[in-house]
Amino acid sequence: MTLHLPSVPAWPRRCLLRAAARALVALTAALGATGGALAGAIGDKVFEIEAQFGSQPGQVIERLRPLEAGARAGDTDDLRIFLAAWGYAHASIDKPSVAEAAVEELTDLGERLHDPAALASAYTLKAAMLSFSGQVRAAFGWVESALPLADKVPSPDLQYWVDMMAADMATSNGHLDEGVRMYEAAVVAARRGRNPRREAQAYLGLVPLHIVKGQLGVALRQAALVRELGARTTDPSLRISSWVLEALAADAQGDTRRSERARREAQNATLAALVEAPAGPQVPVNSQAGGDGWMGTEVDALLTLSALHQSAGNFGAARDLALRARTQAQAQNDDAHLAVALVNIGLADIRMGHIQQGMALANDGLARMGSRKRDAELLIQLNRYVAALERSGETSESWLRLRDALMLETELARRDRRSTVIELQRESSFQQRQRELDQLEHQNALQAAEIGRRAMERTLSLLLAAAMGLGGVVAWRLYLRARKANRQLALNNEALEFASHHDAVTGLLNRRAMEAHTTALHGQPYCNVSISVKQFGLIVGSVGHQQGDQLLCQIAGRLDAVARRHDATLYRVDGVTFGAIFRCAEGDTQRVRTVLQALAEAMEVPFEVGNQDLIVSIGAGAAHCPTDAPTAHEVARLAELAKLRTHAEPGNTHVLYDARIGESQHDKLHMEARMAKALEQGGFELYYQGQRSMADGRFCGFEALLRWHDGGKMVSPAQFIPLAEESGLIVRIGAWVLQQGCQQAKAWADAGFGAVKVAVNISPRQFNHPDFLATVRRTLQATGVDPAQIELEITEGSVMDAAEASIAQLHALRELGLQLSIDDFGTGYASLSYLRRFPLTRLKIDRSFVSQLGASAQDDTIVRTVIGLAHGLGLAVTAEGVETPAQEAMLQSWHCDVVQGFLHSRPAPAATATQLLVAEREALLQAAEA
Ligand code: C2E
Ligand code: CA
Ligand code: CA
Repeated sequence: MTLHLPSVPAWPRRCLLRAAARALVALTAALGATGGALAGAIGDKVFEIEAQFGSQPGQVIERLRPLEAGARAGDTDDLRIFLAAWGYAHASIDKPSVAEAAVEELTDLGERLHDPAALASAYTLKAAMLSFSGQVRAAFGWVESALPLADKVPSPDLQYWVDMMAADMATSNGHLDEGVRMYEAAVVAARRGRNPRREAQAYLGLVPLHIVKGQLGVALRQAALVRELGARTTDPSLRISSWVLEALAADAQGDTRRSERARREAQNATLAALVEAPAGPQVPVNSQAGGDGWMGTEVDALLTLSALHQSAGNFGAARDLALRARTQAQAQNDDAHLAVALVNIGLADIRMGHIQQGMALANDGLARMGSRKRDAELLIQLNRYVAALERSGETSESWLRLRDALMLETELARRDRRSTVIELQRESSFQQRQRELDQLEHQNALQAAEIGRRAMERTLSLLLAAAMGLGGVVAWRLYLRARKANRQLALNNEALEFASHHDAVTGLLNRRAMEAHTTALHGQPYCNVSISVKQFGLIVGSVGHQQGDQLLCQIAGRLDAVARRHDATLYRVDGVTFGAIFRCAEGDTQRVRTVLQALAEAMEVPFEVGNQDLIVSIGAGAAHCPTDAPTAHEVARLAELAKLRTHAEPGNTHVLYDARIGESQHDKLHMEARMAKALEQGGFELYYQGQRSMADGRFCGFEALLRWHDGGKMVSPAQFIPLAEESGLIVRIGAWVLQQGCQQAKAWADAGFGAVKVAVNISPRQFNHPDFLATVRRTLQATGVDPAQIELEITEGSVMDAAEASIAQLHALRELGLQLSIDDFGTGYASLSYLRRFPLTRLKIDRSFVSQLGASAQDDTIVRTVIGLAHGLGLAVTAEGVETPAQEAMLQSWHCDVVQGFLHSRPAPAATATQLLVAEREALLQAAEA
């Protein structure tokens, strides 16, 4: 007869899956004071808190809170210890944003002070967070990078934490021998730190591994050791767990008497603990973080062993144990464990090739978890399910479930942040006024969007790496690198601030500073001088780049000296262009000439670079504000125009701007004016390029591409769109394009060609213009086109800057019935993150990837993966720039939906596009007749 152990209602119920789950071993994460010395006063207090409340993170947090100020005022060891404990406790109650903040701060500390202990703590904490959401592969990478760092620090506390985490992650990733090795190292570290509780926990990690490996004698001996060590602590759970494991080991040995005795002992120990258990509410603990009930029941232990067998590839054994767990859970009406048992049986089935049956069971288990609102656990199980599906080649179901997992992850992160805000509000409600709180929430929402975006980007870049068949190690390196880059940016804020106003080569102020300074002059009259070094390219060609830089610095030095002497400020604008600004009364051309003269004179003495004497000449142009133009921007432009005049003549020359210069210049203004005129007088035309559906080989739509007939020649949009964008004219041009495109789509529908789609390019400035939505609405109404025929092509840049506002607008456009696609996918942020957050319908893979198909294995994989992921997210895919049948064949084999490119259709006037449709219709009719 099997004796069932009672469950323990006073403790949070957990459905543990793997040996990785355990008591909060790690609260004293970074206790290792560098140099092995004992931590300071704060460290001691954290130690005490761990010893007393180690398995109740809610209590830990309450007790750590008052220590924060002291930790921040104390030395770095104190702060490090505090942060690690604080972060870990929050991570284990599923508050990752607080934990993430601790990771960031620890990393910062580590990098700033070159402190390996802080870095090791940061990485290990990160690994803990990831493992709590089931991302064990990424977690393994992080903890592996912590190991060598921890080795540099002679601290048994830190060593223990890192070893334990490494053991857990190795085990979860199926490296059982490595797991054993690391747990053994943790035993050693715990013993060095004279901490019997930790030593017992490390042994507790070893016992299931030995059972799974069939080393039952060792397992039994170590279970006894756990009890021995446990007796020297106040932690009753060690005793319970060791008896539970002993029962299972004895089962495996076939020793019924021993297993029954062990079960009875476990039951007694559980009852005794129940009596002593503290009353009161408890914070739910993440199942992977364990708690004091870890393997405290037989169901728990069975599921742990099942998961271990699963990750070791013993699917039969995994299934048997999960079946046993299911029977017990059913008998005890224990829904939580039942759900996990079902998932475990399902995963084993899937890996054994019984895919349909396995999926049904796993889905049943997941649905039960979902309805119980155990979201963090659901996420963990989803991630395991996705991994199993991937390994069994069930790509489409795995993409779908991956999507669920990602959404859930985002949702959890959102909730976490919301509750964090509320907590902050509650704390400060006495001191702060409501307005400040609103502000806080607002900022938090903004940050949330940003953090969410980044987090998702990281997750997805990992997924992408995984999908591309890169190993776990490569994947986590990518992850680490992306993260490092982000951090570096943040860390260098100050340096950036300096760098953003200074030029790195000459040390002069830069263009940005110049713009800021002219703005700050607030209408006081001043002169702007633009200076270029003539034929600098030739000089550099003769002396080499390094010496070219030296020369530039010398030139800058002389010009700067002159500028200072004349109360002017010198800037390096770019390349070989300098600028100078000085106050100057209106009409005081004498002063202007004096300065220009002095600048020229400064060049007269040859420059010595290497052992050569070099003669350098400059050209300078000057314009005055407000005499020549009222705005800083205009004046700068006029000074440049004046300078252009100096280049025709040799030697040091200068020109003061006057009106004739402006008139004779064929500058941008003219082009803008011509564009505006073209808009009014019909100088623009839309060309159409066919888009072919892979499903039936027919043209399903056309992309509208703008053409400008400028005085007999045709100007490419690549030339004029950027200028129209810069000047803002694009808003009007774009409205015209949209109107034309809608009319054409309507005309085709009316002519009986069906719902032919027209794709219209929308530029960033157009998209972000406040009237955009109204214009679209008006155009749809005026033309009477079916909105489903119109697809707006938006670039990543349009939507990334103001993500939240963009999302709202995209939703509004979708509600109008329009299709939305992302153009040039892969060239911009190359991020898949917003795909889920933005209501898109299509993704257009950029030409640059398509043109490399067949030539670059990497591009092949990227294109294939992007198609798969897009489909998983419910998006259609168009490949741009398809020029060869071979490219088309590859895209077809990957189920790309639509191809566009010179292969089937070049951009051409509307009439030509209509002919294509006519020809197609005739061919179809003929085929039908034949
Ligand atoms: P895009 O949106 O990426 O448009 C596709 C471009 O690729 C077009 O160039 C098209 O002629 C070219 N193309 C298409 N198939 C192939 C192929 O198989 N091989 C090669 N080598 N090229 C191919 P186009 O017409 O010169 O347009 C250039 C860019 O100008 C467009 O890039 C788009 O960003 C912009 N643009 C064009 N029309 C408009 C418009 O009405 N509004 C806005 N805002 N931008 C436009
Ligand atoms: Ca386009
Ligand atoms: Ca494109």
